[in-house]
Amino acid sequence: MHPHPWISSCLALTALACACERDSASNPRREPEPPAVSEPTAGEPLRTESHLFREMAPGVYFATGSGAVTVESNSLVVVNADHVVIVDSHVTPDAARALISSVEALTDRPVRYLVNTHHHFDHTHGNAALPPGVVVIGHEATRERMMGDVFAEPVYDELAGVEAAQSMVRATESLLARAADAESKAALEIELAALRRHVEAVREFEIRPPDVTLQRRLTLHSGHREIQLLFLGRGHTGGDVVAYLPAEKIVFSGDLLQPMAPYMGDSYPDEWIATLAALEQLDFQWVLPGHGEPFSGLAEIERFKRFLRGFQAEVRALRESGHSAGEAAARMELRGWEAYASWMLALPTVMELQVRRLYDLEDEG
Ligand SMILES: [Zn+2]
Repeated sequence: MHPHPWISSCLALTALACACERDSASNPRREPEPPAVSEPTAGEPLRTESHLFREMAPGVYFATGSGAVTVESNSLVVVNADHVVIVDSHVTPDAARALISSVEALTDRPVRYLVNTHHHFDHTHGNAALPPGVVVIGHEATRERMMGDVFAEPVYDELAGVEAAQSMVRATESLLARAADAESKAALEIELAALRRHVEAVREFEIRPPDVTLQRRLTLHSGHREIQLLFLGRGHTGGDVVAYLPAEKIVFSGDLLQPMAPYMGDSYPDEWIATLAALEQLDFQWVLPGHGEPFSGLAEIERFKRFLRGFQAEVRALRESGHSAGEAAARMELRGWEAYASWMLALPTVMELQVRRLYDLEDEG
């Protein structure tokens, strides 16, 4: 395992001390107390060089990148009585190794399970960095896609390969050259260093699909802790799994539900709306998304359903007026959704993949 040369900040040392206290307080031979539902910690997240960990309930951490390493997606880390469960492994083995090293600052318990919410590269290409004994769990459709030719995945060239990483470096270099003030220059320097590291990181490439698959539901039990892995229907992909902790009232949603427009190039938009209705039936307080910040309540679900319907309606109207998928993609405006969908409006080739997907689904009838 990697040493911790980065445990230099007071916060990281405090995190380590807290983890030790918790470890001694919860001797696995004693039956642990039922987990209490608590408000997310109002204080600062625990920090390592590469990650921030927000403790949403005792032992349940929402893990995000600090900016020093390109992670491209959020993870969930659950510290159980004698092991750790991680949901989603980031975009590269390098990013996943940084996550595992950071988890070692939270606890000395070993990672036993890694769950993939779906097959997309930004949630699974870190899988290969997990120790061999870690069990990788995902939907059977996720395994199927990962057993296929991932280089042929339509979005691979656009967003996942070396060239995509190099073009992000060039874009950031040009932003840096034009940066006006010292503060934005400093932020861009950090981003550029992370992206240059990422260009090398994506060259290390080994697909590790789930060893254990589920169709509908699989539950991980540890003491009073219950992590339900639920397939509620197709949506963002054919195999979206959410991690639901009923006692803590937390759901890690992957890309099925985010506070921004998710990629739709592998989606089933009509079924997605029904799947979101099933998600609404869960008793949760917090949604921890695969991208973006945690949120509570049902407003984000309603907003996203409206976006899905609006996106479909715009594509259908363009198709009915005789446009090809390519032409339609170039004409997509998503009026009123400019901020919510800004990233896809900025990437014409991604928009085309999404529109083409909806055309294909209509063709299939
Ligand atoms: Zn995704």
